Amino acid sequence: MSVTSKHIRNAASHLHQEQLVAFPTETVYGLGGNALSDTAIAAIYAAKERPSFNPLIVHVRSLEDANRYAIFSESALLLARALWPGPLTLVLPRREHCKLSLLLSAGLDSVAIRVPAHPLAQALLHEAKIPIAAPSANRSGRISPTEAAHVHEELGARVSMVLDGGPCHVGIESTVLDATGEHIRILRPGSITPPMLEKLLGRKLATSAEGETPISPGMLASHYAPTLPVRLQAKTVNSNEALLAFGAPLKGSLLTQNLSATENLQEAAANLFRMIRYLDTNASALGARGIAVMPIPDQGDANALGLAINDRLKRAAAPRTESGLSLPHPTSILHKNKS
Ligand code: AMP
Ligand code: MG
Repeated sequence: MSVTSKHIRNAASHLHQEQLVAFPTETVYGLGGNALSDTAIAAIYAAKERPSFNPLIVHVRSLEDANRYAIFSESALLLARALWPGPLTLVLPRREHCKLSLLLSAGLDSVAIRVPAHPLAQALLHEAKIPIAAPSANRSGRISPTEAAHVHEELGARVSMVLDGGPCHVGIESTVLDATGEHIRILRPGSITPPMLEKLLGRKLATSAEGETPISPGMLASHYAPTLPVRLQAKTVNSNEALLAFGAPLKGSLLTQNLSATENLQEAAANLFRMIRYLDTNASALGARGIAVMPIPDQGDANALGLAINDRLKRAAAPRTESGLSLPHPTSILHKNKS
């Protein structure tokens, strides 16, 4: 059933009553709550079982709205003007005394903010007329949802309403940039790639070695974790494995999903989470002991989207601790700025 303006009004009214509404964005489905309400933000953390040190992204209608809550440097403004609405999140200094819930920043003096392009996300923001905090609509550490059915699987009755906008077009989460200082750097790779950003900025992005070290509490080593173990860079497939293929599939797997038969990285990104979820749900019953993943190219500007796909796959394959909690990724050990 397609979403009508009545559904949008209903969803906006749920948000005003501090309830949670899942909605599609161009990246993945978000679990939305009123970003001005501590009660709603606490409900998001509870529904996702998300550690409270991991801050949330705020979704707003426009750059003008974003400017009410965050301070833009010239570079941040340039990127926002060029790429919003779209799958780019900017981590910016919070405006003092801004009305956003403090809980959503998890104690940091910054805020992550973006303007989504999806028409249903925009319709909801315009109807509700409030900023909407919306992390991905999955339980913490699990595979992100790219279809409404995945949200029901993940959260069930923990969410009061799900707007069904069909499959998400991009399929992996937004690129997150640290834009709190002079040096812009990537905290989470996504479909807005380093070459695209460097072309707009007219200079190289900063790396962690230059200037201060970025803070991104959410970049955990183990994430997107299926139940079955994941084996990367597979050149052969074992008879007790399922296969996530790219290009011409390897022979001999129990069950195969092909990210892109034509080796198209955009198609692969859009298929990634749905196919991992499908293999994880269906391969065990066939006797599978793991998921083998064929190599995804990520070298050179033409393959830059491969960096974001491989980032997700590395986290899906990362060892998990016995407690189920994940360890920080070695390349993103995060400190507060020394100054
Ligand atoms: P998700 O909740 O899945 O949308 O992911 C949001 C990502 O943005 C996580 O990796 C967070 O840690 C990161 N993030 C959100 N707010 C901030 C912030 N203020 N500073 C640094 N990273 C942030
Ligand atoms: Mg997430």
